[in-house]
Order: sequence, then C-alpha cells, then structure tokens
Amino acid sequence: MDANKKILVVEDEKNIALVLAYNIKKEGYDCDVAYDGETGLNMALAGGYDLILLDIMLPKMTGFEVCEHIRYKSQVPIIFVTAREEEKDRILGLETGADDYVTKPFSFKELMARIRANIRRSSGEVAKSAAAAFAGTSITVGELVIDREHYSVTKNGEPIELSKKDYDFILFLAENVGVAYSREDLLERIWGYDDYYGDIRTVDVTVSRLRKKIENDPARPEYLLTKRGVGYFLCKR
Ligand code: CA
Repeated sequence: MDANKKILVVEDEKNIALVLAYNIKKEGYDCDVAYDGETGLNMALAGGYDLILLDIMLPKMTGFEVCEHIRYKSQVPIIFVTAREEEKDRILGLETGADDYVTKPFSFKELMARIRANIRRSSGEVAKSAAAAFAGTSITVGELVIDREHYSVTKNGEPIELSKKDYDFILFLAENVGVAYSREDLLERIWGYDDYYGDIRTVDVTVSRLRKKIENDPARPEYLLTKRGVGYFLCKR
C-alpha cells in the first residue's frame, strides 16, 4: 500500500543533480530532477512530492523565488542545497519558507539524515493534525489563538501569515506555555534532528521573524520571551 516517498531535486549542475538522484534512489526513495527554477516550480506544484531539494543559483528563477511560489500553495518540506553559505543567504532561505539548509560540500550521510528527519516530521504532523481536528482544539495565549484544526494563528481575530516551521514553533511553545527551552532543544523538537549538524542561529532567526509577526513591539516582546541563560518561552498573558 505504502507508495515510495518521492523527492524532487532542483539543480542545474547536471553532475551534482545525477549524484544526488543516485544516492536518494539508493536510499529507497523515488526521485525526479529539474534543471531550472521554472521547471522545478511547475513540477513541485503539480504535486506528489514528499520533499524538495532546492539549489539557490538556478536558470530562469532563483531557488528563493521558487520556494516563495511553492509556499503560496504547499507546505511540502523544502531543503536548500547550495554552495552559498553566507549568513544572509541562510536567513533569506529560511524567510522565504524553507525548512532547512545544507551547504556544499556536504556528506550524503548528513543530507540523508536531514531528508529523513524532514519527511518524518511532516508525515508525523499529518497524523497529529488529524487527531487535533478530531478534538477540535485551539490554544489561546493572550490575544493569540492557535487553531490546530486549521493550522492557523490569529491575533485579535486577524490571521498571521506563518511558514510551516513558524507555526510548528509557536504551537510547540503554546502547548508548553511558560516553559523555557534551550535553542538546542528547540532545534531537536521543531526541526527534528537527533544529531543536528547545523546551527542554533536558525532558532534565533525564527524567533526574530516571529516577533515581527506576533508582537505589538518586536523590540519589547510580550509573548515570545528570552529566558536568560536558558532559551525561549511563550509567556502566558
Ligand atoms: Ca546552481
């Protein structure tokens, strides 16, 4: 019954694309390849993929643009795979709605660990959301309402635009309101890595982006607070 999980690789360097596809198939996934941004976007929107590996520098459309367009329609996990490793690229990638980021050169062991974690995370969420829909529950924290049935967050009734990771982040802290978690802990729980190769600044970037969206004054947060020496928590108001 279980169809193979299907991965789309969007990468214009043929050699890299073929090596990626070869290794992904070896792990038991189905894999398609697109060699430019536009084709990649069309294939991604046609659907049926469980995860997308996306290069940044691509002909026709950049990976950032592709990611942004995919996010209008779909919450499929997206991992940027790129040679660019400047901090601003990492931040821009996460801001356009990517779930993760791998810089070349990377090991296939690392890449496959991330692919598995992202797919596991996203299928786990489908199961969880079905349970939440059945219970029909939402969580209220001050002016925020986190609706687990519709994956949405509103503030004073106004919807807040959130990426999937942003939503996961808020939901997790709301489910554990008042409890502070370290950045390492949050990486493991929200991004799903048992053994994270990346960087805890991902958590800080997410927090600062979320503060811009949910706080009345992001410079003086009232909801998403820092607990000095520990990490972050959502304040019960
Ligand atoms: Ca490229």
